[in-house]
Amino acid sequence: MSDMGFCGIDCGKCELGNKVVSKNAETLKSGVEKYGISQWFQFIPVADDEKFSFDELDKGLTWLAKYAACPGCHADGGSPDCAVRKCAKEKKFEDCSSCDAIDTCNKLDFLEPGHPGLRENLKKM
Ligand code: SF4
Ligand code: SF4
Repeated sequence: MSDMGFCGIDCGKCELGNKVVSKNAETLKSGVEKYGISQWFQFIPVADDEKFSFDELDKGLTWLAKYAACPGCHADGGSPDCAVRKCAKEKKFEDCSSCDAIDTCNKLDFLEPGHPGLRENLKKM
């Protein structure tokens, strides 16, 4: 299965798709446990607005390790309602590069700020 989204985004380069974020969350969670940070943090003087709950941190890191890992566009990762994926699938395209409306398609608009050159890349494929 392609590692590239229907829109041309490379899931392998996305830190959610390549699991960098979820693995980092796991590493951080185990580092906090291994070095007993929740035990000695109380001895470090901090300002009131720097204080936080280690229970909540642990919950947050557990959540990130579990859910901040996208299986990839072709495995239904990303938004379940993605209009680009829906449209390309309806047209029976492997991805949008097969489409002759790349320049004018407004479904790709929301991706342009974060992925400059997306349309040009699709046209080159
Ligand atoms: S879900 Fe939509 S925006 Fe995300 S990679 Fe797939 S086609 Fe692109
Ligand atoms: S119209 Fe073409 S470029 Fe736009 S989402 Fe559908 S397949 Fe992709």
